[in-house]
Amino acid sequence: MYEQVKLSYNYDGLEPFMDAETVETHYAKHHATYTANLNSAAEAAGVADKPIEKLLAELDTVADEAQRTALRNNGGGFYNHNLFFEQLTPGGATEPTGKLKAAIDEKFGSFEELKAQMTALALGQFGSGWAWLSKDAAGKLYVSKSANQDNPISLGTGHMPIFTIDVWEHAYYLKYKNLRASYVENLWNLINWDVVGERYEA
Ligand code: MN
Repeated sequence: MYEQVKLSYNYDGLEPFMDAETVETHYAKHHATYTANLNSAAEAAGVADKPIEKLLAELDTVADEAQRTALRNNGGGFYNHNLFFEQLTPGGATEPTGKLKAAIDEKFGSFEELKAQMTALALGQFGSGWAWLSKDAAGKLYVSKSANQDNPISLGTGHMPIFTIDVWEHAYYLKYKNLRASYVENLWNLINWDVVGERYEA
């Protein structure tokens, strides 16, 4: 049974950068639906015992195309949103510290440059998708974007996501309407860099 991450904040806890109606709809409707559909699809395909990362990395082993597509979309929707909601925090926005900061500085030169590159990927994703910060086994960092509910695991990059930006319209449309850039700019105020740092060191 795959379960949604528990929120460490109330639905209105991310105001004013993310409004309560968006958080509630996004978590209790969109994310909940992906999760329920994943549980059904994983049960039907006989893969419900796999950790979600393993399920997404081994989609190729599911022979039935309809089952594979259901697992890719709903498994990604489940996993991506768990990552997203867990990394948000009210009044957040400290900067990365420790080993994560060192890795960011080595790869990108500065945190500001990482933000610029992630923002460009988030704004450059045509239609629904995600922007990603991922690491490889050696701790080197990578930025990327993906369409729909794909992610660096399901795309077979071998990289592990540690931070993500949801750029589906449901993530921002109620408050920001078509202004994805304003949503992304404000999202940086809500990131819990301690959580991201723990993912980096895991
Ligand atoms: Mn979403």
